[in-house]
Amino acid sequence: MALIVHKYGGTSMGSTERIRTVAKRVAKWARAGHQIVVVPSAMSGETNRLLGLAKELAPAKPDESYSRELDMLASTGEQASSALLAIALQAEGQPSISYAGWQVAIKTNSAFTKARIESIDDARVLADLEQGKVVIITGFQGVDENGHITTLGRGGSDTSAVAVAAALKAAECLIYTDVDGVYTTDPRVVPEARRLHTVYFEEMLEMASMGSKVLQIRSVEFAGKYKVPMRVLSSFTPWDIDINEEAASGTLITFEEDEQMEQAVVSGIAFNRDEAKISVLGVPDKPGIAYQILGAVADANIEVDVIIQNLSKDGKTDFSFTVHRNDYAKTLDLLKEKVLHSVGAAEVSGDAKICKVSIVGIGMRSHVGVASKMFRALSEEGINIQMISTSEIKTSVVIDEKYMELAVRALHKAFDLDQA
Ligand code: ADP
Ligand code: ASP
Ligand code: MG
Repeated sequence: MALIVHKYGGTSMGSTERIRTVAKRVAKWARAGHQIVVVPSAMSGETNRLLGLAKELAPAKPDESYSRELDMLASTGEQASSALLAIALQAEGQPSISYAGWQVAIKTNSAFTKARIESIDDARVLADLEQGKVVIITGFQGVDENGHITTLGRGGSDTSAVAVAAALKAAECLIYTDVDGVYTTDPRVVPEARRLHTVYFEEMLEMASMGSKVLQIRSVEFAGKYKVPMRVLSSFTPWDIDINEEAASGTLITFEEDEQMEQAVVSGIAFNRDEAKISVLGVPDKPGIAYQILGAVADANIEVDVIIQNLSKDGKTDFSFTVHRNDYAKTLDLLKEKVLHSVGAAEVSGDAKICKVSIVGIGMRSHVGVASKMFRALSEEGINIQMISTSEIKTSVVIDEKYMELAVRALHKAFDLDQA
């Protein structure tokens, strides 16, 4: 008997029929003698629907009072799905109670729409578990020190689940979703993608941060920090399959490198279309330029990702970097208004139609020639690389968005990821 956290994503909670199936699966785990805490997402489409209503009334703006209301609004999606799941469990004869984040409480900072969890009070949850109840805690949300409801960023229910698992010292956090594990790349883009039986935590961290939305990056960070055993598995298997078979299915995130069964150099490919490129052209090449440009961007709270500075010619250089696509217009305006003249640059230009494709694998630490193999595969497809960035276990390239799927497929093949 163990304390286990289950997380069910939006598609898994997508209709009353699906919620009933989740209830039957959860009741099966409870009947087997486990203490179960469930963290559900909103029913699929609900968060988008709610945020869309807000946009109809007033276009998105970054001010705090607007963001506060977005959180007030979006958090209702999880409150509804949690109550529905409790009702479905009770109908199965399984005692159950649902809580909103503030009732637990899941305390966060006050960064509306992208809050971070600071602490979780386990008293109420443990008391209910002792009484034999399944406890349901809304995903995606918490409460700040002033009692305002906050949300954790899109996909944040993964993070809620792992944080709850860490706070309760759960034996495992099972992330039930609409695929049966973590694949070598998104199986919607490459049908030949293979499921990984295990994936090393650092690789999962890179894949999530490079755009694989199967797990929110903060959930992986939490799992690493608190060593929460975490597994990604399907909510679409028949609910009554053997519980031991279910417990061993999907993909396990491992923390020990030698547990790694698959010793591929490259384990996965991630991609992300959420970025945009900004170039500052004809900048005088002298000390302090990068600081003047990127300092102004950082002061506006805009995160910068890939950066390149070209070799200088005639004392002038070009400087490019990427930002989140949502920050594209703001960054361009800011540079034109405040930076262009003060640094003596000739021009600021941008391109929002780019994407980033990354290869990830801990095997890259000990192998040479991996990046060049990547560049060759892209050149064979006639794909021009605009920017490159690397870390110990990852190489990313920025390319034209229209070649994204072609690039992912070509790299998947070049690194033999479709071969078992
Ligand atoms: P949930 O609603 O359960 O949180 P998400 O839509 O957030 O589900 O995440 C699951 C989706 O992530 C899959 O349907 C798949 O298309 C996508 N995905 C992206 N990269 C991967 C990958 N490497 N392995 C598996 N799924 C991936
Ligand atoms: N419902 C939220 C979203 O759509 C959180 C989640 O599903 O993880 O982003
Ligand atoms: Mg998700």
